[in-house]
Amino acid sequence: MRRVRVTVLGKSPAFADAGGACSGYLVQEGASTMLMDVGNGVFGKLRAAVDYTTIDAVVVSHMHADHCLDLVPFAYALTYAPDGRAREEPVRLMVPARGRDQLRRIVGAWGGEDLIEKAFELEEYDSGAVLDAGDVRIRTHDVPHFLPHTNALELSAPRSGGGRLTYGADHGPTEGLVEFAQDTDLLMVEATLKAPEEHGPRGHITAREAGEHGRRAGARRLVVTHVSDLIDRDWVRAEAEAGFGGPVTVAAEGDVYEV
Ligand SMILES: [Zn+2]
Ligand SMILES: [Zn+2]
Repeated sequence: MRRVRVTVLGKSPAFADAGGACSGYLVQEGASTMLMDVGNGVFGKLRAAVDYTTIDAVVVSHMHADHCLDLVPFAYALTYAPDGRAREEPVRLMVPARGRDQLRRIVGAWGGEDLIEKAFELEEYDSGAVLDAGDVRIRTHDVPHFLPHTNALELSAPRSGGGRLTYGADHGPTEGLVEFAQDTDLLMVEATLKAPEEHGPRGHITAREAGEHGRRAGARRLVVTHVSDLIDRDWVRAEAEAGFGGPVTVAAEGDVYEV
């Protein structure tokens, strides 16, 4: 049995940790190497971990800057890097509905709006879609966030028989995620807040709530992520463990998880 291996390249929320990167996770399974989210700061961390030309596919949970902005340096590297850094096969880029237009507006602010489309093989997916990237199967599920078309992602490798990894992306409290992640082997869930938002719709959750989501989902293992280094790590762990009812890992750059 081969396992899906996930390496944390960045775990910061929208404001990066000191020396850190926003959301980005390297996923390796057999011959497949891919990226799940590619927030600001992630491309440099990716370069420190692996040769970026070995990335076959990128999947983006939602189009907030801290989850997609380093598509820009990645596109430049694929387009302009010196000899020997080109790829034969284009890198597949899977973004949520409306992602193409959002990327055009971002890079169009200073230059050709097709930078990213020319560098990657871009496709949009609808929430609920099942995507196959090499031997990795990706299930997608809409979660409530400040931006429409935000998706939890589940990675598995059915052909090699490993387990399920569920990544919640960014979200407010959601029974939908609890159901989507039911009995998952590893749930990576955000724990952005110190206290629940008091006004307007909820778009993030606290560490306590993250633990409760993991418990209700029956997750075998819980990792909390999207946590700033400005929040005390021990407090985050204690709150998440109180909600989960068992041990919880607080994500750190360089962590490797296998399912
Ligand atoms: Zn975020
Ligand atoms: Zn977000």
